[in-house]
Amino acid sequence: MRLVTFDNGRIGVVKEGHVIDVSDIAGAVPGAWPPVGMVRFIAHWEDSRAALLDAVRSRAGRALSEVRLDAPVQWPNKVIAFPANYHAHIDEMKQGAGTGVISTFKASGQGFFLKANSSLSGPADAIVLPPLAGREIHHECELGIIVGKRGRGVSHADSRSYVFGFTCLLDMVVRGKEERVMRKSYDTFCPTGPWITTADEIADFDNIEMRLRVNGEERQSASTRNLIVNIPEMIAMSSAVMTLEPGDIIASGTPAGVGPVEDGDVIEIEIDGVGSMRLPVTRGTVGDHPVWDTEKGVLAV
Ligand code: MN
Repeated sequence: MRLVTFDNGRIGVVKEGHVIDVSDIAGAVPGAWPPVGMVRFIAHWEDSRAALLDAVRSRAGRALSEVRLDAPVQWPNKVIAFPANYHAHIDEMKQGAGTGVISTFKASGQGFFLKANSSLSGPADAIVLPPLAGREIHHECELGIIVGKRGRGVSHADSRSYVFGFTCLLDMVVRGKEERVMRKSYDTFCPTGPWITTADEIADFDNIEMRLRVNGEERQSASTRNLIVNIPEMIAMSSAVMTLEPGDIIASGTPAGVGPVEDGDVIEIEIDGVGSMRLPVTRGTVGDHPVWDTEKGVLAV
């Protein structure tokens, strides 16, 4: 099943190019703040299943092109992100896929970080680059994992039952040596969407193929079979530290091929069996600060 948030907090199911509004079943209040409709829907997924299937069978939908898709999960409890999770990407960063210094740690020994929830944006939103002179802002093509239920200390064996679904995710980043959270948390630096594809539609979590194009040219291509920290281990490691909550998002790390984007570029991300998004890149006017003046152009993860 493909689940969307649309038109300012409505919840829908995508069926044959149409969106069936199930906001009532999801308990979502359109326009409400905070916009937690999808989080609540995921938390009560099993209870609403019968009504949902009935609605999908019986209700008419609106064409996807007539609605505005929001980020599928607009207000999660947290966005967890794994760095340096493919060997080929670590190799390119050691070589300086830009210039400068790089941490040689990888995710299996380094763990994860958090991105600000407020960096989330959706498939209808542009990526807005802050006006930072002399800094590269890179795309990272990632699989987004949507957590389905609360859990702490989850074992590898139980991990699959915590995966609600998947979405396309871009981990945008200002390259540099400053705190990673700051470099990765500008508004619109975590596009997600266009929907959540539920986990039952993905037969093999270790064989999910993805690719990213900039202006039509392929820049990144990978399969989850080449992850260093695989999906069960991401669930185990993150839940060792923190209680996972329904709707939490895990960014699974980027493969090789990261690179800078500029105003006017168009980024396409495509994950087989999950979905695709086409996002314009623009340059905003807000976001410069003297903190960026100290280490111009030095590269880190
Ligand atoms: Mn990343």
